[in-house]
Amino acid sequence: MAAKIHPSVDNGVKPGAKDFKGGTLTCKCASAPVTVTLTSDVAHNHACGCSKCWKPDGAAFSVVAVVGRDKLSVTANGNKLKVVDASATIQRHACTGCGVHMFGRIEHKGHPFHGLDFVHVELSRDKGWAAPEFAAFVSSIIETGSAKPDQMAAIRARLKELKLEPYDCLSPALMDAIATHTAKAKGVLKA
Ligand SMILES: [Zn+2]
Ligand SMILES: [Zn+2]
Repeated sequence: MAAKIHPSVDNGVKPGAKDFKGGTLTCKCASAPVTVTLTSDVAHNHACGCSKCWKPDGAAFSVVAVVGRDKLSVTANGNKLKVVDASATIQRHACTGCGVHMFGRIEHKGHPFHGLDFVHVELSRDKGWAAPEFAAFVSSIIETGSAKPDQMAAIRARLKELKLEPYDCLSPALMDAIATHTAKAKGVLKA
């Protein structure tokens, strides 16, 4: 049996639709759900093994993507949202009814990812979202208790089979973006 990654990719990664225009994320509350509307597709969608991302029960990984914060608005029952950990870099706005994280936002203006919100498109019934492209913080699933060290080879093999290249931090493109931002801030790299 193939190692389980996340329900939205375990049966194969579904490709996104070209020119997809966004849609609505809905929390899991049976009544008065929180909704968040995105007016564009997401980018850098990926599986994430870190301990902070919201994931469905039993999943080893979350599936998380970014969208411009100006493309995101809370469209219903925003009074149910509360920041999970105000001291964290990413302020994760979670529903106090069902626990789902509706969006994560970076308020620190100097952060390389300032201006981007983190979202989980599995909360949307709309079809066509950009597909997951890689897997980040893979080794962290040992720390979260989702995998034993001797299961990691099978998990990395399954990620590669799904064309979700496994990395133990972020993807090279995102690590380069962070390093570029830091180098410019330090003056090492001139624009
Ligand atoms: Zn909820
Ligand atoms: Zn994560």
